[in-house]
Amino acid sequence: PPESLRHSPDGTAYVELRDPRRLRHLHEVHRATIGERYQLGEIDGEIGEGELLAFDRDLARFAFTPRRAAPQPLDLHLLLALPRPRMLARSLENIATLGVKRLTLLHTARVEKSYWQSPELGAEKIRQHLELGLEQARDTLMPAVELVTRFKPFVEDQLPALLEGRRGLVAHPGAAAPCPRGLPLDAPLLLAIGPEGGFIDYEVERLIEAGCEGIHLGERILRVETAVVALLSRLY
Ligand code: SAM
Repeated sequence: PPESLRHSPDGTAYVELRDPRRLRHLHEVHRATIGERYQLGEIDGEIGEGELLAFDRDLARFAFTPRRAAPQPLDLHLLLALPRPRMLARSLENIATLGVKRLTLLHTARVEKSYWQSPELGAEKIRQHLELGLEQARDTLMPAVELVTRFKPFVEDQLPALLEGRRGLVAHPGAAAPCPRGLPLDAPLLLAIGPEGGFIDYEVERLIEAGCEGIHLGERILRVETAVVALLSRLY
């Protein structure tokens, strides 16, 4: 998304883009030309389309027309045990591409404590990875991200309320039920995916106690980033 919405003296809205990576992308991938229209991200709470008015190496200026043409947002809250930093980047891209409304990165027993110190967890880094995924999907709605470093209070005190009016599924290789398929796109859902070493039994029990159902994805054990993709594409 461009930086901010501005208004010219005659009242028309415009936005300016100064981020060098995006300017390069416009130039090299889109071969941008004046007069072309682009779907822009969420700017000051508005989603819109931009007509390119001016473009050089340092700046692109678009006339802004608000509209809601982004792909249907899924009402999906993903609870993801914090993956190792290298895997986090790819998981974030996939998550944004596939459409997640809210992402909770969660500490569990088999998450290495050192992962929480990674520079990949900086708000700006997270945003960059999510933006790459959104650009791929031509979606514009940035998932809300929160970091939860204490499993027990989250699962006991917050999760039951989060599950009100929302179906909760825990992906766990040992689960008895298979992953459901073809759910309605607007069905509110919370999905929990474990760390590389899996959830420990205690964690699965607490998640189920809070209101989640255990589900499996078949005999094969998938890497976290693959499990994210497999689950989301099976569910909808
Ligand atoms: N040895 C671990 C276990 O048995 O839980 C494997 C963990 S797997 C690499 C990482 C996460 O991806 C799991 O915690 C689970 O949430 C999800 N996952 C991977 N394969 C799965 C499967 N076949 N069924 C359900 N969930 C799966």
